[in-house]
Amino acid sequence: MKYIEINKEGKELIQDPLLNKGTAFSENERKEFKLNGLLPPEVLTIKTQAKRIMKNYRRINDDLEKYIFLESLHDRNETLYYYVIMENIKELTPIIYTPTVGKACQTFGDNYRSARGMYCSIRDKGKLSNIINNWPHDDVEIIVVTDGSRILGLGDLGVNGMGIPIGKLSLYVICAGIHPYKTLPVMLDVGTNNKELQNNEFYLGEKSDRIKDDKFYELVDEFTKSVYKRWPNALIQFEDFTNNHAFPLLDKYKNKILCFNDDIQGTGAVALSGILAALRITKENLIDQRIVFLGAGSAAIGIANTIVQGMVNQGISKKDAKKCFWFVDSNGLVTNQRKDRLGDHKLPYARNVKPIKNLLDVIKIAKPTILLGLSGIKGGFSEEIIREMNKYTREPIIFALSNPTSKAECTLEEAVHWTDGAAIFASGSPFNAIKYKDKSYVPGQGNNMYIFPGIGLSAIVTRSKKITDEMFYIAAETLASMVSEDNLLQRTVYPSIEDIREISINIAYKICKSNLDVCPKNIQKSDKLRETIKQLMYVPDYKNYKKRLI
Ligand code: NAD
Repeated sequence: MKYIEINKEGKELIQDPLLNKGTAFSENERKEFKLNGLLPPEVLTIKTQAKRIMKNYRRINDDLEKYIFLESLHDRNETLYYYVIMENIKELTPIIYTPTVGKACQTFGDNYRSARGMYCSIRDKGKLSNIINNWPHDDVEIIVVTDGSRILGLGDLGVNGMGIPIGKLSLYVICAGIHPYKTLPVMLDVGTNNKELQNNEFYLGEKSDRIKDDKFYELVDEFTKSVYKRWPNALIQFEDFTNNHAFPLLDKYKNKILCFNDDIQGTGAVALSGILAALRITKENLIDQRIVFLGAGSAAIGIANTIVQGMVNQGISKKDAKKCFWFVDSNGLVTNQRKDRLGDHKLPYARNVKPIKNLLDVIKIAKPTILLGLSGIKGGFSEEIIREMNKYTREPIIFALSNPTSKAECTLEEAVHWTDGAAIFASGSPFNAIKYKDKSYVPGQGNNMYIFPGIGLSAIVTRSKKITDEMFYIAAETLASMVSEDNLLQRTVYPSIEDIREISINIAYKICKSNLDVCPKNIQKSDKLRETIKQLMYVPDYKNYKKRLI
């Protein structure tokens, strides 16, 4: 059991969001911590506090205002914030994370209220160690870092992108019980090419263009070294970097430090998991699939890399696995006969055929069993395309993964109607369930929050020195195995998000138990491993407060 130590008193205690209990401080605590008179007399339980929060929350009609309301609770009383979210996880996660966090980032400067996380600016180059040493907590375990260059589908938002690391780390706490003390959101402020922001009086970052690559890589290097110096066991999650930096950063650091890129690897695992669950419906093997992607960015390539790993695990070579993929980007089929220069990340998947301009023609040639949308193009999967796919595949697996819902390549209704109920559909953002010919179709949401918290938890449990591709494959398999038969009957390929803590525990457990060389043998062999993992997890409850140390 981990305790929170109360080492403050009076106003200072009430103003510390990690220690504050607000109206729930007991009469004894009020005496002990010199709080009498500083709070209204009645003592409330956390349950009553949460009820009041939700009553007020539900009076708000605008999603951004709801986000601001919840963030202000986050800044006042973290225990209550996490308690409220865990009690209402389905309702509140779309507010604290996607899609609403996108709007929150766009208006970050306008709505700025209080500081959270760390800003490592290009102004501080050469002094990042001092900046890192300013952080008040000694035992940081998970850091999410972005440079704000490609926030969700919204482009370069500069330091406004800070909402993303903050939101992701909240999900770590909620989904995997990482202690809030041990999380650190970081913004690397390397400028912004967004002219509107540069000219906005409320913009809070460097108001100049992004720095050149050599300086950029030097700054990231200094950052990772400074982090490692102070917190040698901390996991760094790279988040929302543009592709020209995301892939090279991952290649550079993945075998050197404990790190991963969620846009690439987390997305890969969550999509593979949905596919593995869908194959439980079609009763087919992964290695027999033909897969067409609309979009060839970090998410699409990350998914393909993870599927390749899955195919290799099922017995075929990497080279043969790559033959199962066709990518279509904004310039058509990704082939090495195209005139434009392909990004390095696309090269391993470039086919050696004449260029093909549109997806429909690619479908005719590839005859895919799986169609994945990661292009951000609403309507990218037209009726003609889906009907064409259905000619060759009895139960087409169609994942329209672009966010938000308005950008999904097709809707659940369209996929189901155009295939006369045969499609197995999943999306990146939520869709409502539908009925078609008396059968219910409940769409699964391929949300990365199914995967990355479990990966982070496994890193903490195993004290692993790196995050490997195999760990993501195990996470995908574990998640797919948790989809119930009842879910599959409704063609749902992901488990309920309400089971998220159990999912994260299972992912960490399976990774520890696997034959990968990431877990010390004494931990791996322990028959109390599951309990050990559970005990490491933070529960938002005032009961875990330890008597003061002052
Ligand atoms: P990205 O910018 O790296 O890639 C976008 C890709 O789409 C590029 O290859 C681009 O060429 C292609 N594209 C753009 N217009 C096109 C068109 N008209 N036709 C064909 N291709 C086109 O972005 P990303 O990080 O790869 O994300 C892509 C989408 O996937 C986003 O909408 C994002 O929200 C979504 N996503 C979903 C999940 C999830 O569901 N778990 C995770 C990550 C990303």
